[in-house]
Amino acid sequence: MAVRLYDSLTREVRELKPAHKDGVFRFYNCGPTVYAPAHIGNFRTFTVNDVLRRLLDREFGASNVKHVRNITDVDDRTITQAKKEGKPLAEIAKFWTDKFHADCEALNCLKPTVEPTATGHIKEQVDMIEVLMQKGNAYRSADGSVYFKITSFPGYGALSRIKERELKVTNSAFDADHKDDIGDFALWKAYKPEDDGIVQWDGPKGASSGRPGWHIECSAMIKKHLGETIDLHTGGVDLLFPHHENEIAQSQCCNGTSFSLQWYHSEHLLVEGTTMSKSKGNYYTLDSLVQKGYSAIAVRYALLAGHPRKQLNFTLDSLHAADSALKTLRDFRAKLVTAIKEAAAPATSSRFDAAIAPLCDDLNIPGALGKLFTEVNNPLPTDQGVLKADLKSFDEVLHLIGLKLDEVKAKIPAEISHLAQKRWDAKAAKNFALADTLRAELTKAGWAMLDRKDGYSLEALKQ
Ligand code: AMP
Ligand code: ZN
Repeated sequence: MAVRLYDSLTREVRELKPAHKDGVFRFYNCGPTVYAPAHIGNFRTFTVNDVLRRLLDREFGASNVKHVRNITDVDDRTITQAKKEGKPLAEIAKFWTDKFHADCEALNCLKPTVEPTATGHIKEQVDMIEVLMQKGNAYRSADGSVYFKITSFPGYGALSRIKERELKVTNSAFDADHKDDIGDFALWKAYKPEDDGIVQWDGPKGASSGRPGWHIECSAMIKKHLGETIDLHTGGVDLLFPHHENEIAQSQCCNGTSFSLQWYHSEHLLVEGTTMSKSKGNYYTLDSLVQKGYSAIAVRYALLAGHPRKQLNFTLDSLHAADSALKTLRDFRAKLVTAIKEAAAPATSSRFDAAIAPLCDDLNIPGALGKLFTEVNNPLPTDQGVLKADLKSFDEVLHLIGLKLDEVKAKIPAEISHLAQKRWDAKAAKNFALADTLRAELTKAGWAMLDRKDGYSLEALKQ
């Protein structure tokens, strides 16, 4: 089933296809800035991107999807936090990167194929800035910083449709001290001891030492890990301007070729109808919700419950609703696992293909949830092959309850493995009465044994 997605650049729903001959789909998602815990708004964007990634894996094959998501470990916010805590920047970044990874794992988000850091790619950024200076797209300012000259790129504004007059208003609050034009943006920021503490690197030829601007980080990491032209670039809607507009300008002027063939921006999360802020008391992290007694997986469910291209209003009530929906899904899974007995091959299609179709149609997650529950509430089919196909696919893309096989294995208690092996041996010895008794013991203990021709696997009936 072809995956079609709204493209923020052409404003059309377009089919996603790998453009390169090697058939690898190149997908970049702007990652977190690691100076504090990510909030649940950030995680709306990351869980939506996780569903997109799983859908692409299903469509193109996991080994044909290269997913890069960066870590922004140097910018104004990370430097300010390091100074506030009197710690090295790298220590702050590592601490919050580890926390981000733990939260992603709790939320069932897959790791990207590559997760580059901005500080690990200073040379690549400096190289790009030097090319832009040589080509006349960038200039050194009086203080030794380097700015991108937006009038040098006629395509500037194509993504955000920003007009020159609006640009002036938008940027009027920005520091215009050293720029030729108010719309120009920093590629390299000259070192300022009062702002930057001890954070500085050698700059591009002709510029001062200092640090990269935020936008060039993504352009350089994309070029290194995905190449000059990629298939899809995503992020939250706030990144559309100026971040993504600036990425396009830098990359296209430096590389002389198309940058991202498609763009996708998911809308923001609101909490109790308004933007999240610490002063309003509606600012949630994953930890703060877990401390209130909610499960991380209920948070995943609640974050996925709305259409990604519409704002989603998060409430604590939505977590209660998520809990009961998840219980229905877990009960269904247990029913399915118990019903699977024979070593039949899985059918080629599953009843749950109907729930994939809305995902392929512009990532309509609520539509997919609707179809999922329709099938969950229908009577189970008797065909063993269909049951097996259902077990594989019903939670494959939304990944609301499923554990990966190795995670299941890691959780199998020794006595259960022992019982299962005994049953397998009894079956091999054609002692079917003993095999049935042992299966009943396993079921009572909360485990289902799935037989294949060449072995078996164990599935927890409840998670
Ligand atoms: P940051 O760590 O601030 O660089 O943001 C990481 C990601 O979270 C970006 O893709 C942002 O667009 C996204 N984001 C920030 N705030 C929200 C929000 N309230 N709702 C959804 N996504 C958000
Ligand atoms: Zn980015």
